[in-house]
Amino acid sequence: MYRRVAIIGGGAAAAALLSELLERQLPQPLHLDWYTGGDTPARGVAYGTRSDRHLLNVRAASMSMFAGKPRGFLDFAQRGDHTIAGTDFLPRRLYGDYLESEVERALERAREAGHDVRVRPLLVDALVPENDGVTVIHGEESSRVDAAVLAIGSLPPQPLGGVSDAALESGRYVTEPWSFLAAAKPDERPLKVVLIGLGLTAVDVLLELSMLWPNARFEALSRHGLLPEAHLEAASAPADDSSDLIEAMREAPEIRRWIRLLREAIAQSNDWRTVVDSLRPHTPSLWAALPQEERSRFLRHARWAWERVRHRMPPQVMTAMQALEAGGKLHRRRGRLQAVDVTDHGLHLQVRSTDDGSIETMDADLVIQTVGLNTDVRRTRHPLVRQLTTNGHLAPDPLGLGFTATTEGRLQRGDATWPHFYAIGTLLRGVLWESTAMPEIRQQARQLADRLLEE
Ligand SMILES: Cc1cc2nc3c(=O)[nH]c(=O)nc-3n(C[C@H](O)[C@H](O)[C@H](O)COP(=O)(O)OP(=O)(O)OC[C@H]3O[C@@H](n4cnc5c(N)ncnc54)[C@H](O)[C@@H]3O)c2cc1C
Repeated sequence: MYRRVAIIGGGAAAAALLSELLERQLPQPLHLDWYTGGDTPARGVAYGTRSDRHLLNVRAASMSMFAGKPRGFLDFAQRGDHTIAGTDFLPRRLYGDYLESEVERALERAREAGHDVRVRPLLVDALVPENDGVTVIHGEESSRVDAAVLAIGSLPPQPLGGVSDAALESGRYVTEPWSFLAAAKPDERPLKVVLIGLGLTAVDVLLELSMLWPNARFEALSRHGLLPEAHLEAASAPADDSSDLIEAMREAPEIRRWIRLLREAIAQSNDWRTVVDSLRPHTPSLWAALPQEERSRFLRHARWAWERVRHRMPPQVMTAMQALEAGGKLHRRRGRLQAVDVTDHGLHLQVRSTDDGSIETMDADLVIQTVGLNTDVRRTRHPLVRQLTTNGHLAPDPLGLGFTATTEGRLQRGDATWPHFYAIGTLLRGVLWESTAMPEIRQQARQLADRLLEE
């Protein structure tokens, strides 16, 4: 096993890996440096919210952080409230409590077992991978480890094209919805707020701001003007045997053909959700079978539809969205943002209609960009990611989906694979596609822990 390991990142993925490593009986002491970046360790962006309106979009019974202990989160939640069921969608805040308590337990176990674990609330400035280890640099200090794991989640959002510098400087165009929500205060004014993007991030923003700002009106813009689909109240029946569908998809790795196959499978099923969900365990191998051109076609034409059906909202959240629409507080629009500029009173937007291509204009007091996770390492201001790419240590995925890597998470530089430099989570999208939610992250954490202890 490796003697000295560094984990860089303080979110749920790092917490899952750390807990997996310290859960095991190790033959010798492990020196583990956990660089958490300064955030409350374990919660990260997703589970750092304090709002009980922000719910998990996965049922409690499927949210364990350990692949080997599937009831982990449910047991934790039921200790606080025995009426909670495995099918419930619980607050993300409670999930953050669970992650923190598991990490505390893991650190306690580590102390008892004589491991040397240092939790360092620091941002790593640079990493230098070599064939026999990795150097970790922060400030004036550097340390050498046998292996390092990059667990830094997704990248800070970048403003969309067409947003003027003046709009960005005005403070009325928000690119980081999470820090904005965390600082938002009640406001009685009749504000007009435009959201760019209509996925789960927009839904979180709407849930929170519609309560804090009762007189605000929201317009939400996206290419198709559709909200994410919702889960059913009762859990869907287990997926039917999908082996014929998967086989047929593997035989013809083309997006058009896959859409046809999926439509046929859905037409024969009682609930389309079971068909979508049945693909989940096979996604990495299906993605691996897709030629680059087809992946690109998927991103251009089918990604939005896939995200809508795959990342669904809890039914009570759908009810809340419907109530906002019925009350005239939320309007959805179909179009693409072209430009945002400052006026005397706020912001002025130009939008190209998806229906007829015409340019329409809108005014707003505030615009919030809610376009989902950013994984494009080619165009980021994240200092560590910039250092890794500009120094040529790592190669960007050609489609903007994180770094190139092997399916087991070993990072690459061109054709060469670093033997002791790994990643976990969202920046592995280019190689795995599904690599963001806990069900995928806990599998990666378990496999990575095996690998780190085997080497
Ligand atoms: C709002 C939201 C809701 C979600 N809801 C769900 C859900 O209900 N169910 C589900 O399964 N998944 C959900 N997800 C998916 C979610 O991304 C994962 O479950 C998980 O939170 C990802 O954790 P992570 O550790 O990879 O990234 P993050 O939580 O983003 O953590 C990355 C960490 O890296 C640190 N960092 C960055 N740079 C450095 C550096 N240079 N040095 C040191 N540290 C650094 C950051 O400070 C941060 O602590 C949600 C995601 C979001 C954004």
